[in-house]
Amino acid sequence: MTDKYAQLVNHGLGRNVARKLGLPQPAALRRYQPGQPLITGPVLVQGSSAGADTLATELLSWDLDVRRHAVPREKLGAIILVLDEVERPEDLEKPILVAGASLRDLAPGGRVLTVSRPAPEADSPAAAAARQGVDGFLRSLAKELRAGATGNGILLAEGVQVTSPGALAAVRFFLSGRSAFVDGQFLKISSPAGELSHNPEQPLAGKVAVVTGAARGIGAQIARTLHRDGATVVLVDLPAAGEHLAAVANEVKGTALQLDITREDAGQRILEHAMQRHGRLNIVVHNAGITRDKLLANMDQSRWSSVININIVAQLRINEALLGSEHFRGAPRIVSVASTSGIAGNRGQTNYAASKGGVMGMVRASAPLLAAVGGSINAVAPGFIETEMTERIPFALREIARRANSLQQGGRPGDVAEAIAFLVSDAAAGINGEVLRVCGQNMVGA
Ligand code: NAD
Repeated sequence: MTDKYAQLVNHGLGRNVARKLGLPQPAALRRYQPGQPLITGPVLVQGSSAGADTLATELLSWDLDVRRHAVPREKLGAIILVLDEVERPEDLEKPILVAGASLRDLAPGGRVLTVSRPAPEADSPAAAAARQGVDGFLRSLAKELRAGATGNGILLAEGVQVTSPGALAAVRFFLSGRSAFVDGQFLKISSPAGELSHNPEQPLAGKVAVVTGAARGIGAQIARTLHRDGATVVLVDLPAAGEHLAAVANEVKGTALQLDITREDAGQRILEHAMQRHGRLNIVVHNAGITRDKLLANMDQSRWSSVININIVAQLRINEALLGSEHFRGAPRIVSVASTSGIAGNRGQTNYAASKGGVMGMVRASAPLLAAVGGSINAVAPGFIETEMTERIPFALREIARRANSLQQGGRPGDVAEAIAFLVSDAAAGINGEVLRVCGQNMVGA
């Protein structure tokens, strides 16, 4: 599961050969390490709205080095473009070109962030054009960035301010190494709800979280990350994976629950375990999933139904049980793991893509149900992640899939886990019904 090509083209002779031949040279990404600064280097806040001023002031209180004007040739950690008041496409020109002039000074692993408003909520065609223009601009800019730098956008719904907790939580996530493999994406903050943690290193302290499919791969890493962030974790997996499950549970000082999530009473069993062993349940991460790839012309009933049952039907049934219980109250949070296959489609994966498209549909439609109990439900859609699942893809196909994103490399399970840990935190309460891609700006799909 190591990317030998990336190692080869970034050292010694391999680096020189790759440079001469113009081969992709994937950069080492700036990933989160507890205790490290949020970002190194000054943060340039561009934009002339009141929101730009209040954001700059807020960032100063985070002990960041903030600039409202670029200092020539000073290396920048990040550029934030606050475009929350654009009314016409012409309004984009000045802030964007001024930011563009600073791009050469962006440090490796730097960040570009836009803060704007959703086009569908605009009250005039010109305002909608300007807002949608930010979308096209940012996605293109993200493809121009190099050296592990990323570009992402925050969309503030009506009534949400630049310094609402959800917006600030998103700014913190995108600036940090937690978002290393999130690139070219927009995240909508739909309400001003949320509370920034007083302890950014342990934002999940006091929470009890369930992670399904936690014996290995992405699920095991989600369990480790939620534990690192302060949560007590219940790890769920099949009885056949019991040994691995127990090992990961021991590692994160959590409890193991051997359970097939397709059982009719799975939701009940999860609730009972969490209540009996830990006295509460705050967070559920639906990660367990399988692939059974075949072209549709060769698809048999068992391949189709097993994928649909595990990847989506089980989640619907578990959520129904959770939402029907008085124990899943008081800001409950659910995150489901979808896939870019469910957005862009993938040859040989009609069953898998239907199930993952289903996850995204479920999340959007369940958002009001969770909001009614003060909670939230979101999905992350990983692209190519280095796991046992992708290790089985034939070499040539794997190499193509791995490089077909703006960062020219596969993500790590930890990259998916970081996005989930952010979405289940109370600071992210204003994010509900969203799908966040963790795909390095995969070239396929939206
Ligand atoms: P994996 O196969 O390594 O792990 C999946 C885990 O789920 C296993 O431990 C398995 O035992 C468990 N599981 C399967 N069926 C179960 C059931 N009925 N009940 C309980 N547990 C069950 O997979 P992974 O690569 O870590 O993927 C995790 C999730 O991420 C999946 O939902 C997958 O679809 C999604 N995903 C992965 C990638 C990738 O590149 N690896 C990309 C996009 C999405």
